[in-house]
Amino acid sequence: MLVIVFVILAFFTIILVSWIVLLKRRSEAGIGGWVKDSDLKGGGRKYVDQATGIVAKPDIVLKGKVIEVKSYAVKNRPFSGDILQTTAEMNAVGVGKAEIHYLNRKFRVENTLHLRGVLMRVFHTMKEHLDHNTAPHGTPTKGRCRVCEFNDICQERC
Ligand code: SF4
Repeated sequence: MLVIVFVILAFFTIILVSWIVLLKRRSEAGIGGWVKDSDLKGGGRKYVDQATGIVAKPDIVLKGKVIEVKSYAVKNRPFSGDILQTTAEMNAVGVGKAEIHYLNRKFRVENTLHLRGVLMRVFHTMKEHLDHNTAPHGTPTKGRCRVCEFNDICQERC
């Protein structure tokens, strides 16, 4: 009888410790809600924006929010490309809020009409280039062009 009680106690202790570790990790990662989907270790679900066909795989999907986790730091504001990516993810998942987690800071992003407009403009520009088989103008810098795999054939390189 004592052995059975001991096994049951050990079982619940393991569950409790695992739960506490999970909560601690989620809190350290700044995740407050119930995770519906995660792509942090790959295998996350693909979401499709029905209006554009853009496919997105957010790092974390919570109820009403997506989180994009970046492996680099920023200064005072998120990179515009990261905001655009997050906007595409919000529209694909159908949520109104997002967070971008950089190594040093977190930013909130709202799915506003303005951001949706920016996304649609970029989408139409990309579609035009694809339809006409042309490349968009780049934003060359010496640092980028030096390591770019196309620098031996690119007309715009610095
Ligand atoms: S070499 Fe051309 S494609 Fe590559 S970064 Fe520079 S401008 Fe862009």
